[in-house]
Amino acid sequence: MPIYEFKCKKCGNQFEIITSFAQKDKVTCSKCDSKEVEQLISGCSINSGSKGFDGGSSCGGPGSGGG
Ligand SMILES: [Zn+2]
Repeated sequence: MPIYEFKCKKCGNQFEIITSFAQKDKVTCSKCDSKEVEQLISGCSINSGSKGFDGGSSCGGPGSGGG
């Protein structure tokens, strides 16, 4: 099963949960048991010290984006 990363909006706890896609909707904070959690999507890998990455990816672009 895939690992989903969540962050609690209430206490700020960040945790990972191994669950199915259907069950990830019912994830609660592992610390305070709050339902107000948001899934962290690791779309852009933020690695410090990693240079030489050329390309036109819309990752971390100030201004762009909306919605
Ligand atoms: Zn919490």
